[in-house]
Amino acid sequence: MPESITFSGSTLDRSSNQRRDAEWIARHLDDEAARFLPMWKLNPLVKLGDERSLAWARREMFDDVEPTPMPVLLGVDGDVAHFAVDVSSVDDPEVTFGVDEVAKFEELRGVVPQLSHSEASIAAQARSLTDWHARHGYCAVCGNPTVPELGGAHRRCPDCAAEHFPRTDPVAIAVVGRGDQCLLGRGSGWPSTMYSALAGFIEPGETLEEAVRREIHEESGIRVGDVHYVKSQPWPFPSSLMIGCIAEGTSEQITVDFGELEDVKWFSLETVQAALDGRSSELFVPPPFAVAHHLMRAWAQRTAAG
Ligand SMILES: [Zn+2]
Repeated sequence: MPESITFSGSTLDRSSNQRRDAEWIARHLDDEAARFLPMWKLNPLVKLGDERSLAWARREMFDDVEPTPMPVLLGVDGDVAHFAVDVSSVDDPEVTFGVDEVAKFEELRGVVPQLSHSEASIAAQARSLTDWHARHGYCAVCGNPTVPELGGAHRRCPDCAAEHFPRTDPVAIAVVGRGDQCLLGRGSGWPSTMYSALAGFIEPGETLEEAVRREIHEESGIRVGDVHYVKSQPWPFPSSLMIGCIAEGTSEQITVDFGELEDVKWFSLETVQAALDGRSSELFVPPPFAVAHHLMRAWAQRTAAG
């Protein structure tokens, strides 16, 4: 089994076939055992205490919320359905729901290192889906209000019958190696020694490899030859799929695109290895929950092995 990555590995079964059945959805919504994850302004409700975990609620918790929120199916664990519920319309949710002593709505990026692998993935799914529903209330074809269907798996326009599906936006992210040198860049506003893999959205009509070559050249002036896929990561801010690669640099002279980045530099294998182990004062890299960290580690291991 491949090494898993943060925001993947949900233990819920998405039930893609069963959720087409409206009665199946209704039965699970009414099931006393069903679990509901409150989301407030895209933040999941998380239990307080030494061991943080998602604070699942019963459906009655949302009885007084106006307008009535629509639960979005996340999946089932055994026979128990799990839903996300957007309660952003509530002003002071922890007090309103009487949970301020035991749970708090947390920004996902901050709390994710404290959640279990599966719950981080479930919270990511809930965040992306909640965000998409909140922003797709109107039909992109005719402008009329849309309604959710299949437990929130998509929305349909009752007026023109157009179907609208949740987006996942592919992002190419790559560590470029040339011999024992590694190309990394930093965005503006980052800590002064922090550098990461270069990344950009894949555009219509492009392959992953073409997107890597274009983005790297645009941002750094470096030409890239071979591109090898390594691993991907869902990134729910709001709904990207990071597609991680190691690419072979075929030129050396850097020309930074200052519109996109503050700096791009070549770093030695030794410096990258030290940074990955938290031993470098010269270079600070993203934490292990980001795919960039895994790409740098994969590049360092391959390069060290020759
Ligand atoms: Zn329409």
